[in-house]
Amino acid sequence: MSKNPLRFALLSLLLLMPTLLPAQPPLPTAVATAAPVVCPKYVFLFIGDGMSIPQRYMAEEYLKKTEQRGLRINAMPVQTLTTTSSANSFITDSAAAGTAIACGEKTNNGFIGVDPDGKRLESVAEVAKKSGRKVGIVTSVTLNHATPAAFYAHNASRGAAYDIGLDLIESGFDYFGGGGIEEANDDKAENYKGNLYELAKEKGYIVSQTQEGFRIISPGNKKVISMGSEGALPYWIDEKQKPEAERALRLVDFTRQAISQLDNENGFFIMVEGGSLDWACHANNAASALHEILEFDEAVGVALKFQEKNPDTLIVVTGDHETGGLTLGNRERAYSSNIELLEQQKTSKDAKEAKELAQKAGLGWTTGAHTALPVLTTAQGTAAFYFADAKDNTDIAKLLKQLIGPAGRLMRLVPAKPSSVPITVPSTSPIPSSTTP
Ligand SMILES: [Zn+2]
Repeated sequence: MSKNPLRFALLSLLLLMPTLLPAQPPLPTAVATAAPVVCPKYVFLFIGDGMSIPQRYMAEEYLKKTEQRGLRINAMPVQTLTTTSSANSFITDSAAAGTAIACGEKTNNGFIGVDPDGKRLESVAEVAKKSGRKVGIVTSVTLNHATPAAFYAHNASRGAAYDIGLDLIESGFDYFGGGGIEEANDDKAENYKGNLYELAKEKGYIVSQTQEGFRIISPGNKKVISMGSEGALPYWIDEKQKPEAERALRLVDFTRQAISQLDNENGFFIMVEGGSLDWACHANNAASALHEILEFDEAVGVALKFQEKNPDTLIVVTGDHETGGLTLGNRERAYSSNIELLEQQKTSKDAKEAKELAQKAGLGWTTGAHTALPVLTTAQGTAAFYFADAKDNTDIAKLLKQLIGPAGRLMRLVPAKPSSVPITVPSTSPIPSSTTP
């Protein structure tokens, strides 16, 4: 034993370090050259509903052909495949997948924020709120639809829209933006307590349902429910044709508003869902789906801009499952692929035209439902490299909870030069090198 107790302690700490700290996956260059890794102050989780590899690479190829560039979400330095099956089905629905991504546990199809026995699960958004961060939920569909609901609601039925709306108000989250609240005044609901918008106002929310209202919301302490439509936001393929002044509010607008409402010194957690993409894929409408991905990618662009100015930002992008059984080739076209032909379709409306065009473009659809194809998870920014371990959708919540929960705020992870940077070893267990069960 060394005679110098301090030296001994330091040596022991160095020897113990590999067990105390997470094993390091090889870092992509962009991450490896960064300064000491700390837990992120600002966290974005982007979920493309129905977005798996074919959807992402259909859009990638389209952009390459038409704009000589690729998708932002596909260029992120950390990438991995993530499995999506639910507790009771190889093919998941959005409720079970949303719950897995939000809470880190498998549940049955149709269940929101509860396990297969109906036991309440805690979401990463709830953990973030408890740890003092501001929380925002943004979606292009209705605010009480399955994916956003998984972050604040607890119900064994995704169809219980009114009850899920009550949970939305009870969550106390700081910002909700996107579509409206479904069944907001369902007086036949068992737990009917009144119009949800009125109840939200009583709970201290500013409720805006118009463009005018959207514009006058200013950053402050008030909680906000900001909507661009009674139902889902309109498809981007239809809005794109209109002059800018006549367009409805978009996913991009709500992402921007969420940031301006939530930026504060304790940091934030923002979940942004591209929800209509799933509907376009259910309808096997390739051009509509493509435009939803482009819009979703632009919303990620807003977060990337924010990250440029705030390097302590983590951006994670995933899908909840694949929809439509999309393939990037078909029997008739064999080796010929012309995805740029999707440019010819100017509206979401004509199903027959959409089908014919997808066929000519060299695309194929195998189902009107979801499939069990794994999704692609990509990440960029502070602590992004941990998401190389997101092999299953439950891993995303498990990782996020540790990075943004109370322990995450104290943790300092893996300095670039161990000898020169002080290490704070967390009192709770460190992030495991793999969280796959
Ligand atoms: Zn779906």
